[in-house]
Amino acid sequence: MADKTIPYKIYLSEEDMPKAWYNLRADMKNKPAPLLNPGTGKPLTAEELSPIFCEELVAQELDDTTPFIEIPEEIRNFYKMFRPSPLVRAYCLEEKLGTPAKIYYKFEGNNTSGSHKLNSAIAQAYYAKRQGLKGVTTETGAGQWGTALSMACSYFGLDCKVYMVKVSYEQKPFRREVMRTYGASVVPSPSETTEIGRKILAEFPGTTGSLGCAISEAVEVATKNPGYRYVLGSVLNQVLLHQSVIGLETKTALDKYGIKPDIIIGCAGGGSNLGGLIAPFMGEKLRGEADYRIIAVEPASCPSFTRGTFAYDFCDTGMICPLAKMYTLGSSFIPSANHAGGLRFHGMSSTLSQLYHDGYMEATSVEQTSVFEAAEMFARVEGILPAPESSHAIRAAIDEALKCKETGEEKTIVFGLTGTGYFDLVAYQKFNDGEMSDYIPTDEEIAASVAKLPKVPQ
Ligand SMILES: *Cc1c(COP(=O)(O)O)cnc(C)c1O
Repeated sequence: MADKTIPYKIYLSEEDMPKAWYNLRADMKNKPAPLLNPGTGKPLTAEELSPIFCEELVAQELDDTTPFIEIPEEIRNFYKMFRPSPLVRAYCLEEKLGTPAKIYYKFEGNNTSGSHKLNSAIAQAYYAKRQGLKGVTTETGAGQWGTALSMACSYFGLDCKVYMVKVSYEQKPFRREVMRTYGASVVPSPSETTEIGRKILAEFPGTTGSLGCAISEAVEVATKNPGYRYVLGSVLNQVLLHQSVIGLETKTALDKYGIKPDIIIGCAGGGSNLGGLIAPFMGEKLRGEADYRIIAVEPASCPSFTRGTFAYDFCDTGMICPLAKMYTLGSSFIPSANHAGGLRFHGMSSTLSQLYHDGYMEATSVEQTSVFEAAEMFARVEGILPAPESSHAIRAAIDEALKCKETGEEKTIVFGLTGTGYFDLVAYQKFNDGEMSDYIPTDEEIAASVAKLPKVPQ
């Protein structure tokens, strides 16, 4: 077995933490397509975006040329409370699998919100505060983003209104209470508090909601209330930018021991953790300095990359948000109830979509029972109870390590362990009781929602 010259955990010091975020778009020859105004079909300007988003975040959203953007000191100081996060060598998992592969994971679950989302939440709250705003609105699906944002807002003394997908609101009362403890107000979506919510409720009485629908409500409230802006926890370029701290730290830790990964794996919902983890590595790949296999892992129940269409689409169900060019299942696609709530978005980051389209990365989809089998094995040997979302990456990492066992190759695999699963015990209960099912949408279902894509010049 491995000689263990590499420590179980590669910790960095505070001085090793990145002082600037890395903007992957600066190194892309084919830039991600611009956001379009759904009314005019023209690229959105900063002026048009500023009633929705904070000014500095608009600038970051539209900037596809500046490679490094300084992390303000206030944000770096907040990061220091839970970063740098450890890069762990999964010796115990390797041993369990009997693989010659070397497996590492970057663990982002070491903060109260339990996921990587705090990396962007604190940045977005900081810029809102600096602009003198009263508060922000957002949606949350599984609840991780809402929790992270409520922590960030309480730190900077901002009001925080969270529209939580109704099914999660009911199933995850404890997440809701964490948010309220941090001072956020939490409304189940769709709700009677917005025009779009009332419209959706009239059309689909009894609906348990969706992320796209909660986004519509949060945007409406932000644009109708002076002193408020909307913030989003994934998909957008600015979020990938903030999440680059994950990849930059990973690269510094690997470089410390002269380790070069062969394969980098991350789960993909809207693409923010994956975009952040791979950023510096993809940068090297784009500049022709190194090569890596990069794999996005998505649920078979919501397969945007592997079965979606690369086209302009709405980011929300209410069709009030800008149009983004991305791999999408159609904004009217409502995935079946699966337990990886954070991976249930119909679209995908336009940056990652472009890179995937250009052949710089691969994608695979996995079914949830096999994801939970991987989660269980991981929890038992590595000790961490993983989030269902993160467990998609664990599944793919195990599968790659098992291939190495067959071929005898000693590949180095790095994956993102985005969070912990303490709030997902209903899902674990289903799995433990043998009641978990796998739902895969039919081609007809996907074709039906893709047929409703907006008509814009593609
Ligand atoms: C939100 C979330 C994800 C998926 O979001 P991305 O933007 O694709 O990273 C993955 N893991 C956890 C734990 C999450 O909370």
